[in-house]
Amino acid sequence: MSTETIVILGASFAGLGAAHYALRHVLPQLPKKDGVTYDVTLVNPSKDLFWRLAMPRVAASTKLLPLDKCFIPIEPAFAYAKGRFNFVQGTATSIDAEGRKVTVQTATEEKTISFISLVIATGVSTPSPLFTLTSDRAALEAELDTFHKALGKATSVVIGGAGPVGVETAGEIAEFLNGKPGFLASAPKNPKVKVTLICAESKMLPVLRESISKKAEKLLKNLGATVRYDTKVVSASTPSEGAKTAVQLSNGETLETDIYIDATGTRPNTSFVPGAWLDTRGKVSCNPKTLRVEAAGVPRIYVAGDAGSYTRGGAMDLQIALPVAMTNLKTDLIAHVSGKPPGPDRHYAADPKESQVVPIGTSKGVGAFGGNQLPSLMVWGIKGRDYMLGMLAQPTLNGDAYKKEGKWKPQPVVNNGVGLSSS
Ligand SMILES: Cc1cc2nc3c(=O)[nH]c(=O)nc-3n(C[C@H](O)[C@H](O)[C@H](O)COP(=O)(O)OP(=O)(O)OC[C@H]3O[C@@H](n4cnc5c(N)ncnc54)[C@H](O)[C@@H]3O)c2cc1C
Repeated sequence: MSTETIVILGASFAGLGAAHYALRHVLPQLPKKDGVTYDVTLVNPSKDLFWRLAMPRVAASTKLLPLDKCFIPIEPAFAYAKGRFNFVQGTATSIDAEGRKVTVQTATEEKTISFISLVIATGVSTPSPLFTLTSDRAALEAELDTFHKALGKATSVVIGGAGPVGVETAGEIAEFLNGKPGFLASAPKNPKVKVTLICAESKMLPVLRESISKKAEKLLKNLGATVRYDTKVVSASTPSEGAKTAVQLSNGETLETDIYIDATGTRPNTSFVPGAWLDTRGKVSCNPKTLRVEAAGVPRIYVAGDAGSYTRGGAMDLQIALPVAMTNLKTDLIAHVSGKPPGPDRHYAADPKESQVVPIGTSKGVGAFGGNQLPSLMVWGIKGRDYMLGMLAQPTLNGDAYKKEGKWKPQPVVNNGVGLSSS
């Protein structure tokens, strides 16, 4: 008896969804083969799902949202798949495409795991340690503790980057330290802290239209936060304890600040991926329609989520992308096991409609969904209440969005990998 394994690297929005999809819709449809069983192995450095969406509020204070709530155990969500599912707590360190195996470093050993199919779902890290689980929970707790002590004494905070993470963080910190303005007041009376948001473009929140972005600026102003447009952060000094940070701007100015938070974007977690598979941004290069990693030169390797070249990222986009990657994985695997020609491809196409929800402080916010602007109260209802912890964390863990395979339009086979060398 031998076991063939679908290996999934990373257990956040993409990896969890991929694992549930494989267990529900791929394994049951594989042709029976004498002496062979199939299972799924999910690899992740942490045994918990880390709810990074809530970190802008946790960064302001754990009194607003305790960090504990942002860690939810992964394995219980797979209790239904006993005998077909393995969880490995570890970090992928290399991929051997020809040998069809990955190397994983766990706390105690270096493991080699063979795969029949591989899904890379290792996402991205942020330059600021406040929004990423870089090593473990204890390290993040220690990081936050130091940060909160410094924030308690701060009179100035500069945030680089005016995408949703920068805007949310500016709003949370400004409201927590300066308080909400009184009824009809346009700004706090005696703000404790000056919060400055540095925006590289002439508009914040690139996904949202100008008028919504302006609304966000007004809400930030109400909390004592200001925006500097058309300015980039060139560098930030690393100060000794208690000293100020010097933030060098593209206009030649230097801001001296008690706290600097880098929210200037994300970096793909792909250091373990062969260089030839990566694009110029370090993302895993894939066929933008099928999400197959054709650069691997061997079949049945896919990418899903923020680590992939096909997407600008975001948890919402995954609900479109993940079923595509997993349907094509299933098609390729059935063809491989049966020796028959593959079925049609499923294609990815991003939803171009304006959709983004951005809380600003604990009771207001801006956003749009499906091209329609959302009122501030609805932004609070959807996300501002608890950053969707109550509404979305457990369903994400349980892969609720992928209970069904969903309808799709069959497309001609572009490159199913069958023509490539296979093992
Ligand atoms: C502060 C913040 C707030 C956000 N808010 C929103 C929001 O409100 N709405 C929205 O749509 N999007 C939001 N995003 C974006 C969203 O978080 C990402 O789009 C989403 O997390 C991508 O999911 P993913 O599974 O691709 O990657 P990630 O969430 O980055 O997860 C990757 C997983 O892989 C693991 N991993 C990394 N390296 C390895 C390795 N070598 N081996 C094994 N595992 C590895 C990581 O530890 C992690 O568990 C936010 C992002 C940030 C930073």
